[in-house]
Amino acid sequence: MNHESKYLAKRKKWSEKHTQNYYHNYNKTQRVRNETKLEQDKFYRNKQWKKGLRPAVLERDNYLCQYCMSHGRMTSGKIVDHIIPYEFDSSKRDDVNNLATICARCHTAKTLWEQEYYGTGSGNELKEVAAVPDIKYLPDFMDSAKTQ
Ligand SMILES: [Zn+2]
Repeated sequence: MNHESKYLAKRKKWSEKHTQNYYHNYNKTQRVRNETKLEQDKFYRNKQWKKGLRPAVLERDNYLCQYCMSHGRMTSGKIVDHIIPYEFDSSKRDDVNNLATICARCHTAKTLWEQEYYGTGSGNELKEVAAVPDIKYLPDFMDSAKTQ
């Protein structure tokens, strides 16, 4: 083999290997994500959530959106939201301190903000960021995501 064909063969091998690795890692990440999604769906369907955590949080919050509340607005809400998203930290999924009542409008804004900040949502990649556990900082974050 001459120099050039040796070089080309080497290059071909390199790119095959790296392509394989790429797909391998990609599939692995996808698999983990799909598993999280399945667990998440199961969590929202189970009794502990439907008959325990969810109504307890709604009652604690008097069916009022806690995000609007921190901006001095009284809005009723029926959605119970994980302050730190389930997808980002599933260890906080049963923690009532990580749950809050939210209205539909804030929920949409928060979901958008979470996708941008945490990298949640299908097709996105989770980011290594600090979790924001305090509801009082979130409306400002959510507003900034909307105006961008
Ligand atoms: Zn709200």
